[in-house]
Amino acid sequence: MRKNSLGLCLCGLAVALICGCQTAPIAPPPMAGVSLQDVCRQYNIQWQFDSITQVVFLEYKTHKAKALVGSPVVLIGQEKVILSAPLRRINSNIYVPDDFESKVIGPFGAVVSRLGFTGELSNLKVHTIVIDPGHGGKDPGAKGYSGVKEKNVVLDIGKRLKELLSEAGLKVIMTRDKDEFISLNERTEIASKAGADLFVSIHANSNPVRRTHGIEVYYVKTHDKRDLDEIQRQINERLFFRTLNAAPNRTVQAIVSDMMYENKIAESCRLAMRLVHNISSDIEIPNRGARHARYFVVRNTLMPAVLIETGFLTNRQEEKKLNSSEYREKLAESIARSILAYASTP
Ligand SMILES: [Zn+2]
Repeated sequence: MRKNSLGLCLCGLAVALICGCQTAPIAPPPMAGVSLQDVCRQYNIQWQFDSITQVVFLEYKTHKAKALVGSPVVLIGQEKVILSAPLRRINSNIYVPDDFESKVIGPFGAVVSRLGFTGELSNLKVHTIVIDPGHGGKDPGAKGYSGVKEKNVVLDIGKRLKELLSEAGLKVIMTRDKDEFISLNERTEIASKAGADLFVSIHANSNPVRRTHGIEVYYVKTHDKRDLDEIQRQINERLFFRTLNAAPNRTVQAIVSDMMYENKIAESCRLAMRLVHNISSDIEIPNRGARHARYFVVRNTLMPAVLIETGFLTNRQEEKKLNSSEYREKLAESIARSILAYASTP
């Protein structure tokens, strides 16, 4: 008896193994679910199929699972998970029902590889993120060289970013997901109520000097007494402490607030520098730097917060780029990759 790379016993030549994640995707027949091969490729999961026993073996880092073709039961370690439909084999392909990803891949903690990132969710320092597309509704934001509105561009980038980060397993909350006006106060309150680990505001820039173009990321470098006493900040602190199961007493609240403040200052700067560097090199636009600014949403949120100015709508070429969905997707991917890289550093 010999063992293959997964340590599975192979009983002579009678056992036929189909090794996963290598060949081109094959469109599933109607109602077959999703191809196991495609799912495994997407999440960098190794899989093997024993055609004698009809058992599928899955492996991701230290996690192992097995399932039987024809059965809806998946064993993840010792735990039994029931899928909405049985696994099916059609010719040499295996199909799994739609809830396979949430019920099996989710517990594996696998991070989708669309962003080229394969970390484990449990190791990330960001689990819940608030994405804040600027402006909206009666507030159009900056107006472009030929009339493109900031509120529409940043909403689209925000939605794409949400999709990418959700796929990666993060909990994503949007301050707005349609063309509506949300006050600055409300935006910070949404983040506090969610107990979010990170706040990312998306904007597009303008400048009377029309040749000005490039990326800028803003963060708050210091808070003075005036900032710490600001009414919205105090409201947000109360909202945040209400999210905790057991509300701490006043003394502990003050200590926690101080710790959050110190953490916010250091981490916001770290993320801003990473973002501006990565985005400018990923999509080849000038790096105008990570900059300090006291914008309302960055100074009144309790968690690390940045405001990304994704480009200048007043610059003819940059407006044209920002008006293209392909470019906005590239931007969203670069932002998402930077956030995941930041989230995976201690
Ligand atoms: Zn703006």
